[in-house]
Amino acid sequence: MARKFFVGGNWKCNGTTEEVKKIVTTLNEAKVPGEDVVEVVVSPPYVFLPVVKSLLRPDFQVAAQNCWVRKGGAYTGEVSAEMLVNLSIPWVIIGHSERRQLLNESNEFVGDKVAYALSQGLKVIACIGETLEQREAGTTMAIVAEQTKAIAAKIPSWNNVVLAYEPVWAIGTGKVATPAQAQEVHADLRKWIHSNVSAEVASSVRIIYGGSVNGGNCKELAAQPDVDGFLVGGASLKPEFIDIINSAT
Ligand code: PGA
Repeated sequence: MARKFFVGGNWKCNGTTEEVKKIVTTLNEAKVPGEDVVEVVVSPPYVFLPVVKSLLRPDFQVAAQNCWVRKGGAYTGEVSAEMLVNLSIPWVIIGHSERRQLLNESNEFVGDKVAYALSQGLKVIACIGETLEQREAGTTMAIVAEQTKAIAAKIPSWNNVVLAYEPVWAIGTGKVATPAQAQEVHADLRKWIHSNVSAEVASSVRIIYGGSVNGGNCKELAAQPDVDGFLVGGASLKPEFIDIINSAT
């Protein structure tokens, strides 16, 4: 089954209203392939979601960077999946390594969050990835399989999930995985999904790469057969994000 190329822009905790509007203007003026070729989703901080959603071209979508693990209520500082649905925000990023590392989000907690977000009708960009220490110890596949398993165990369907492989050592470091390194893990993940979920999901689920993707390295990465797109941090705040979107063709 053909997998539509997916490019996500993770703006992380960056920007002012003025800066965010400027990025949106650049995106709105960009010449990119149609929605039938590439799905583009940008993820501003929560407070800017409404303004970005209201100004962004209709062929691009928005994502929140996180949401709460269950129905809203007495959870100070959290934002619930129901609130995102209420604002017509279609996507949410769950399990980003910065949250796993800085906020101690466990595999189980991430699995629960993905499941709850899906149950409310959100689409999920679910992030996994190994640290440098784990890669050097030769445990990359064991780690990402464990992270994927914790998600797979909790969800009834993968239809609305994009899996983002983001090696922690490549995030924000300028040290991008080589195309061969990315392809190897993506192919192994697809095999894992084939054996542990289903052949159908293995062939249809999009596995995107994240970690120091930029306008210069995106083409070669995009050419790998199991790389179905990108989750882009730093470069998504810059005009080169357009080049990354255009690597879909
Ligand atoms: P980066 O971040 O592109 O700045 O490395 C990627 C991510 O964290 O999603």
